Amino acid sequence: MADTLDSVDVAIVGAGPVGMALALALAGGPYSVLLIDTRQRGAWAADPRALALSHGTRQILERLGAWNGRLATPIETIHVSQRGGFGRTLIDSADYGIPALGYVMRYRDLAATLDQSLATSRQLSNCTVVKILANRDAADITLGDDGEKRRIAARLVVHAEGTPGNDAGVRVYDYRQHAVVAEVRPLAGHGHRAWERFTPDGPVALLPLAKDYSVVFTMPPEKAGQFIELDEQAFLAALRIQFGSRMDFVASGPRASFPLALRVRQQLTVPRQVWIGNAAQSLHPVSGQGFNLGLRDAWELAETLLTRASGDAGDASALTFYAQGRRGDRRGSMAFTDGIVRLFSNDLGPLRVARGLGLLSLDLLPPLRHFVARRMMWGARAWP
Ligand SMILES: Cc1cc2nc3c(=O)[nH]c(=O)nc-3n(C[C@H](O)[C@H](O)[C@H](O)COP(=O)(O)OP(=O)(O)OC[C@H]3O[C@@H](n4cnc5c(N)ncnc54)[C@H](O)[C@@H]3O)c2cc1C
Repeated sequence: MADTLDSVDVAIVGAGPVGMALALALAGGPYSVLLIDTRQRGAWAADPRALALSHGTRQILERLGAWNGRLATPIETIHVSQRGGFGRTLIDSADYGIPALGYVMRYRDLAATLDQSLATSRQLSNCTVVKILANRDAADITLGDDGEKRRIAARLVVHAEGTPGNDAGVRVYDYRQHAVVAEVRPLAGHGHRAWERFTPDGPVALLPLAKDYSVVFTMPPEKAGQFIELDEQAFLAALRIQFGSRMDFVASGPRASFPLALRVRQQLTVPRQVWIGNAAQSLHPVSGQGFNLGLRDAWELAETLLTRASGDAGDASALTFYAQGRRGDRRGSMAFTDGIVRLFSNDLGPLRVARGLGLLSLDLLPPLRHFVARRMMWGARAWP
């Protein structure tokens, strides 16, 4: 057993988009940074997800030097409606004087762009964290890879390892829904319009992506298993049913399914450790907030460490300041997303009417529509 002790200021566990964004935000600053991931570098290439990125996210990625506009498809309008009920609303970027409400990018393209920007950073791949023991001056991390053990002393451990499993510190609400994702080719061009359609099984979103749509189809888990198995024509027919005659599709790519739950870590920091991104909160994808919120976690943490930590990245008062500062954004994003899922994922008659009225009032009451639009564009800064 090799038992070398390396030391670093910030060890980021999880080199997903949020962990990589934090490493980039800290690059060039006073802290030494090490990224650690269980998978090999580039494993994201197989990820089938596309992400809706807010206007605010674009601005942060630009400041990190990790925005590749060629890989992003602008969303100019968002059409929101419900199947089998009245009411619809249209949110238009032209009303806000900006070229796009947001952008759609494949998870793998986002990860690859961040990775390229980080080219010279220190990274350990195929590494598992076996144990973390915090003491007064540092956290002692034991890594196990290929039967070898290795120890690293980090002034701060940042958990960015994505959605947590069962953990006493994480509150879980299981939506009993899965998201089936795929890319589908429309018969006519998408005109940079995104569609959000609420159905009794759950929301269905179509996000413009290059010439295609990325579809996120939520449904009960047992149905998701069947949907994954459908042949291409049957899958496209099922999609057509959701949108009626307004849209047609001619081809679809590989499908994958993700279980959906709200997972909220109750305490963001303990001595010498902090949680960000999906490791801090995992949201339903209905409102496209998860990565956008996680990126703001990374950005705010970097700002705090660079301006308040007085040379010790694990400074307890800086971590407390960070956790308090994130409270409003986390709560607002979770309440917004969870509220939409609960209101729209059932087929009770009175609720269908209430939803119709809600969509109608969104259309008729500009301040309400502006709130929803601003949340899509900026997240926490939705309030005027
Ligand atoms: C179907 C679907 C659609 C979505 N759509 C949107 C959207 O439109 N907009 C949006 O903003 N968000 C969306 N999201 C959410 C978004 O994907 C996540 O919020 C985002 O990926 C979180 O990034 P992360 O880096 O925190 O975690 P992840 O992307 O999960 O990355 C975690 C990384 O940690 C590594 N890791 C895991 N365990 C360990 C360990 N023990 N030790 C070390 N490394 C580890 C993994 O290999 C991975 O590289 C969607 C999610 C789903 C499922």
